[in-house]
Parts: sequence; structure tokens; C-alpha cells
Amino acid sequence: MIATSVDAMTTDELQTLSAASGDGLHDYEQVVFARDPATGARAILLIHSTACGNAFGGIRRWRYRDLGAAFADVQALARAMTWKCAMAELPAGGGKCVILDEEGLDRRAAYELVGDLVAQLGGRFHTGPDVGTTVSDLQTVASRTKHCATEAHGDLSGSTASGVFAAIEASARAAGFALPGKRVLVQGVGAVGSKLCERLRAADVELMVADSEKAVAEAAVARFGAVAVAADRATSTPCDLFAPCAVGGLIDDVVARTLPTRAVCGAANNVLASSSAGAVLHARGIPVAPDFVANAGGLIHGVTVELSGRMPLPERFARIGDVVGDLLLQSRRDGVPPAELALTAAKARVAAARTRRA
Ligand code: NAD
Repeated sequence: MIATSVDAMTTDELQTLSAASGDGLHDYEQVVFARDPATGARAILLIHSTACGNAFGGIRRWRYRDLGAAFADVQALARAMTWKCAMAELPAGGGKCVILDEEGLDRRAAYELVGDLVAQLGGRFHTGPDVGTTVSDLQTVASRTKHCATEAHGDLSGSTASGVFAAIEASARAAGFALPGKRVLVQGVGAVGSKLCERLRAADVELMVADSEKAVAEAAVARFGAVAVAADRATSTPCDLFAPCAVGGLIDDVVARTLPTRAVCGAANNVLASSSAGAVLHARGIPVAPDFVANAGGLIHGVTVELSGRMPLPERFARIGDVVGDLLLQSRRDGVPPAELALTAAKARVAAARTRRA
């Protein structure tokens, strides 16, 4: 039995959530707070929009500063999923789930809680991997709901990496160089980052890797012959292309003013901490592939399998490169940061879908 919504919350938690303004938009359709009464494990599931179809979004397990930070994160992530679906022209909407990783978290209970929550939503929300969620965690979720992508769906993070790679090729072209022999710094060599390294290696780049987990970074160095960069030096080490594949909010105005690179394209969601950071990079002439366009490969894969039962064709990921290339071209022509162009296009598609449904 799961307790959901405000019933599951203490007065303190309710006050924290009410006070958590996030970005103040509160433009979502549904938010569910869940607590496992037996272990105290907590999760927030947020559906941002189902205007284009039922919502899709992965599960992030993260040690948040507090409940308010978790709420702000799930809002931003779910919103990005809506824009991602729209730009990939999928019949799907955006949502996300976060598990609050806390001292002594009963991990299995937390993922079972999420599974029950997803089951309760009856197909309105489909879930899958994100930071902190492993294949075995997803099996736990799938033991409680059929609306969860597992290994049986195929290699979702590999598909994300394929799309990011296509976007990287387009970004390099926009910055005026070809990949072979160029220095590409991959920050975060986890599920997506490591598969991206495979593709970059095959493209003969000079690979550099940074990861906050020393053992993960060392494994990537050994496997790909990459040069290790200290995690805290990732945004100050010169490279031709910077590929953020860890967590969002990395590039704020300060980092944007000094990031020593010629192009930015990676898998991390919400990598720009603000639109002003995007404007700073744009003013410096550095093309930044909009993350929610570049990293849509896994989503395209998951939605295709879930809705049609078929695997997506490889061309579908190559198309991500075309879309990114077009946006970067338009950005240069119109003098508008690419993220702004992508956001405007995504919002227009969602608004049109809403009008068609009304
Ligand atoms: P992951 O947890 O498997 O890998 C993340 C890696 O980043 C880990 O190795 C971690 O140690 C490292 N890391 C975390 N903080 C870091 C820091 N400050 N500096 C350096 N390294 C750091 O996650 P993933 O599934 O590979 O996802 C990576 C990013 O891509 C996330 O932002 C995720 O939201 C996004 N994304 C993933 C998918 C997918 O298919 N998995 C799809 C779209 C977007």
C-alpha cells in the first residue's frame, strides 16, 4: 500500500514543497509525492504534459540537498522531457520521477514504491533509466508495473549515445571542424558517456574523460586509451568539443564565460544552468547543441518499442544530427542561441497538439 500526494507528507515536507518555487512556473499537470510507510523511502513523480500523448520519463536517484531541491529538479527534468518528445516528433509527453537518496535508503523498497506508483497511473506515465538507476533497479520497478523499460526493450543508453554522437558530428561541423584528431572531453563516463566514448574512439578523436568516480574514470582510460582529466578540471581543460554526460546545471554564466572549447554537445539534461549561460556561449561563437534534442535517442528507442513493439531504425538516431545541424545553422543566421530556437519550436508543437485535442 503506498501513501501518495499530500496525505503522505509531514507538515514540514508540505511547507518545504509549497515554498520550493523551482523556477516559479508550476506548469505541470500532476505531481505525486510518495512515501513507503515501512522504510520511509521517498519519491516524487511529476507529469508535465500529456498534450502530445502519455508521459515518458526516467527515474533519477540522487542525494538532494533537501526536498525543495528534489522538487525543482523533477519539474525541470519533466519539462525537458516534454520538449524532447516534441522535438523528436513523438506521440508522447513529458514526466519524470526522482527518488530521494538518503542515508540508509532501502533501495529495493524505493524502486518498488516507484513501480507501484507507475502502476497506479495506469499507462499515463511510462518510465525507464536515468542517473542512479541501474538495470537491476529497473527490474525491480518492472516487477510492479508493465510500464517500465527494461533490458528487454534493448540498449536505451546506447541509443542515447548514438543520437548524441550524430549531434556531436553536426556540432563540430557548425564550429568548422571535422572530428578525427580533435580533442573531445567527455564529462561523466557512465551508461551513456562510456557508450559515447566507444563511438568517438571509432571516429579517431583524441579522447579525454573526467568522472567524479575515480574507478570509473580509470576504467574509461584503460578501455579507450583516453587521457584522464580531474573531475574538478573538466570545465577548465582546453578541448575542441566538450561533451557533458554527467548531471545538469553544470554551465552557469561564470563557466560559460571561460569554458575553453569550440563546441558543446552531450547527453546531460538541462546542462545550461540558465538561458543567460546559453547567451554567453552564443556571444562567444560557441555552438551548443540543445540537450533535449541531442539526447533524445534513448527516448525515441523506448517510445518506439513501447508504442509499436518494434525497434527503431538506426536512421532515426542519425536524424538527430540533422535536426541539431539545422538548429545551429538557423542560430548563426538569426543570431539567436540554439536552445532558445529549440524551445520555441518545441512549445509551438505542444501548443498545436493541445489545440488539436481541445
Ligand atoms: P550514469 O549515472 O550512468 O552516469 C553518470 C556518470 O557521471 C557517472 O559515472 C558519475 O560518476 C559521473 N558524474 C556525476 N557527477 C559528476 C561530476 N560532477 N563530474 C564528473 N562526473 C560526474 O548516468 P547516464 O544514464 O549515463 O546519464 C548521464 C546524463 O545523460 C544525465 O544527465 C542523464 O539525465 C542524461 N540522459 C541519459 C539518458 C539515458 O539513456 N541514460 C538519456 C537522456 C539523457
